[in-house]
Amino acid sequence: MSDTQRPQTENTALFDRAVEVLPGGVNSPVRAFGSVGGTPYFVAGAEGAHVWDEDGNRYLDYVQSYGASILGHADPGVLAAVHAAADLGTSFGAPTRAEVELAELVAERVPGIEMLRMTSSGTEAATSAIRLARGATGRDTVVKFAGNYHGHVDSLLVSAGSAVATGPEASVGGVPASAGVTVGTVADTRIVDYNTVPTLDESVAVVAIEPVAANMGLVGPEPGFLEAVRAECDRVGALLLFDEVITGFRLAAGGAAEFTGVQPDVWCFGKVIGGGLPVGAFGASREVMASVSPLGPVFHGGTLSGNPLATAAGLAAIRQLTPDRYEQLTALAARLAGGLTEAISGAGVPVWAPSIGPLVGLFFTDQPVRNFDDANAAAGTGFFAPFFHGMLAEGIALAPGPYEALFPSLAHTEADIDRTIEAAGRVAATLDVG
Ligand SMILES: *Cc1c(COP(=O)(O)O)cnc(C)c1O
Repeated sequence: MSDTQRPQTENTALFDRAVEVLPGGVNSPVRAFGSVGGTPYFVAGAEGAHVWDEDGNRYLDYVQSYGASILGHADPGVLAAVHAAADLGTSFGAPTRAEVELAELVAERVPGIEMLRMTSSGTEAATSAIRLARGATGRDTVVKFAGNYHGHVDSLLVSAGSAVATGPEASVGGVPASAGVTVGTVADTRIVDYNTVPTLDESVAVVAIEPVAANMGLVGPEPGFLEAVRAECDRVGALLLFDEVITGFRLAAGGAAEFTGVQPDVWCFGKVIGGGLPVGAFGASREVMASVSPLGPVFHGGTLSGNPLATAAGLAAIRQLTPDRYEQLTALAARLAGGLTEAISGAGVPVWAPSIGPLVGLFFTDQPVRNFDDANAAAGTGFFAPFFHGMLAEGIALAPGPYEALFPSLAHTEADIDRTIEAAGRVAATLDVG
């Protein structure tokens, strides 16, 4: 659409200003609507399951900060904790009580974690976890799975999912997926297919994995896969890193280790652990964490690590996440996935909509999706963009890319889910299945 055709609204006016001062008009690429076309809505506020934009449009929101807002937006408990913390100052550069309490809470919830370190993002947590694994083992090689995303960590920007899969930087093989990352930086990174057990050797420091992959749509581990990866790591003395930035505190109170029954050696977290504020964390046994400075030789630090507002929000969120809430979320996700499958296939459109615990995926294909190649094939059918815009016109916001999961929150009601399914049926009926 040319500028003269495009309706002039607050959203478009802001986007026009944004593109002058922010690359693509955004601070994270998927938000730019590059893979669905059109211009993004600018969020003016949010409450519970809904966001509203600068033009006053209200959307039932399945983005939920890519899962960070598991309780729904502007949760009163989280807001009260943040307000109370802010009144006492926003950053000190000295330790605080809330950091101890959050670390204790995580260690209590996640069996196997004895110590952790906080960061300000999932990317930082993943970066530090990789550094720790290399430092603790004295080895160099990192194995990652195609389509898994671990944030914008230089050495892991190879065959990555999420927005990396849709941008001009998309690539496959041992070639860096971003300009500015040297071939040398990724020389020690090995890529393997998800749901295929790699054969390792004794150069491998760590195998990094999303235990349930949620950045190439939603792809679950097949029965026995994680167990076999665990065994292969043990065979050669490599560490297993679960990137639980999405799955942590979402799949279950104890995260993916509890949900899948497979325990890694190192964990990294983000999203839910911050209750919607900038937080990440990495953790492990006391023995492995003994390598972290000042105890050991692996450096990690951060001016805002363990920030008082962020830790207050994280504590307030995680304390509310009791086992019954996971049952509630899992039931909502199953209802959504089942309903989407029925409504979209009923309109003659190929669909594969899995739910795994509280997570939901949506692929426009009639083939099961078990790895990145399958996810790419599904994205290539081209149904996602028109479906996305049709849903947006129905007042329902999905993440604007075919590689993102759907994040129903605890603020979503069964009626919200049913409304979504009905809208999906109407929208699917308008898609050209040629
Ligand atoms: C979002 C995400 C990250 C990166 O976290 P940021 O807070 O965006 O830096 C890392 N790993 C996974 C699995 C993620 O989903």
